[in-house]
Amino acid sequence: MKYIFVTGGVVSSLGKGLTAAALGTLLENRGLKVTLQKFDPYLNVDPGTMSPFQHGEVYVLDDGAETDLDLGHYERFSNSKLSRRNNTTSGQVYQQVLDNERAGKYLGKTVQVIPHVTDEIQRRISLLAEESKADVVITEIGGTVGDIEGLPFLEAIREFALDVGPHNVCFIHVTYIPFIKAAGELKTKPTQQSVAKLREIGIAPNVLVCRCEHPLNKELRHKLSLFCNVPFDAVVEEKDVDHSIYEVPLMLQRERMDDLVCRQLHLDLPAANMAHWQDIIRRLVAPQNRVRIGVVGKYIELQDAYKSVYEALTHGGIANDCGVRIEQIDAEDIEKHGAETVLKDLSGVLVPGGFGERGTEGKIMAARFARERGLPYLGLCLGMQIATIEFARNALHLEGAHSTEFNPATPHPVICLLEEQRGVTQVGGTMRLGSQPCRLKPGSRAHQLYGAPLIHERHRHRYEFNGSYRERFEKAGFTISGMSPDGDLVEIIEIERHPFFVASQFHPEFLSKPTAPHPLFRGFIAAALERSHGKAA
Ligand code: GLN
Repeated sequence: MKYIFVTGGVVSSLGKGLTAAALGTLLENRGLKVTLQKFDPYLNVDPGTMSPFQHGEVYVLDDGAETDLDLGHYERFSNSKLSRRNNTTSGQVYQQVLDNERAGKYLGKTVQVIPHVTDEIQRRISLLAEESKADVVITEIGGTVGDIEGLPFLEAIREFALDVGPHNVCFIHVTYIPFIKAAGELKTKPTQQSVAKLREIGIAPNVLVCRCEHPLNKELRHKLSLFCNVPFDAVVEEKDVDHSIYEVPLMLQRERMDDLVCRQLHLDLPAANMAHWQDIIRRLVAPQNRVRIGVVGKYIELQDAYKSVYEALTHGGIANDCGVRIEQIDAEDIEKHGAETVLKDLSGVLVPGGFGERGTEGKIMAARFARERGLPYLGLCLGMQIATIEFARNALHLEGAHSTEFNPATPHPVICLLEEQRGVTQVGGTMRLGSQPCRLKPGSRAHQLYGAPLIHERHRHRYEFNGSYRERFEKAGFTISGMSPDGDLVEIIEIERHPFFVASQFHPEFLSKPTAPHPLFRGFIAAALERSHGKAA
């Protein structure tokens, strides 16, 4: 069993997760079974209770774990099957240690960060190694070297490396090489200092991945090698990508990063065959067609809040050999300026998931515009609830129809609380979460797109379609095309006699990959493309 640890230096947001994931792609394509894991030093038990402003997207796994968005990269770039074992926070570690202490498992000892907290961290690495049956475990340590809260994790991986031996471990440090405009120079000092910090803890990186806006020249590589104590060829350049994050595996392959890692781990493997990824990049860089899609949300200014949605749209583009330009639209702008003004030049509109009332009226206006004008619409979770409210108000004339999340006193609660949610008072981890089966209506658009009668999709919500309105909706051409197998819960809706109006209570974006674009996104982009052609003609 081999272990790779990825740490970060100098600043956050370097794309450590992406680097780890891209390395996973390369190693898989050399024939290894890989699993990836993230350690997050914060004290929240999971990111499920954090605001998107704090954390970006909450990524949901099959088993219902609410995890860091880096796990999204892991799943999109590799075939590794992830579960709650793949994301550990300090909160979980301390919770376990305190439970052990209360259960008397420490036999009267003083409970301390070293060894009790660090042992619990190591236990989680070993457990994942064992259960995943992978050849390689890639563990990414969140945060930046030098953070106080990251120390127990660094200490734990140092001890772990000692146990498993030097040829079974590779330490990768992802760092930043800033470009100082006034001097016209790339600077290595921050990296030198962050590596010094790591070595102080007892970790000597084997590979240095340098994030930079400009290429590293030979001299600079020498300097980094000398001052950071890594071999010259172990200084890897990772420049900002030109087009797409899916170029990262190819870029790292050109820098021979996978060779370096294999050398360190004493693995003798054939080169990675990346032909498939090269084709994906070709489609991304020079697509045959282009469309503009509006994503109408509330956290639109945050790059990370709808990460998987943006990625899945790109995948839908790959499937149609079509470049997708994403317009991030603030729902409140639609309230201010009207749907026509904001949406008229788009080929499709997507309303993603969300919580809280702000912006809902703007989203409802967007759904109405799409329905009435034949503009392709894809609704995800809240986006399905919005489509339902809109149809109730404007097609069924149920005045004041709403979700009880936004108006508990609405005369027409077309979206209401799940039965199992009544009486729930704890906030963390209590939504309807994770993979659930869904049966598709034969002949529906959803059925055509999936090409299978039974599907499984990931959920994260408390509210749902109110079954007592089902008949009225269906009579008016609002088809319920996906249901939980017991026939209780509405999972997918679509509107008949519309080029593409589909919305799901689940989150299909979590199951889309560049190598396997999700059927709903594929269908949505195909419809948008058709509309844009129609317009051009
Ligand atoms: N707020 C809605 C609910 O809880 C939708 C959730 C979501 O979009 N993820 O049901």
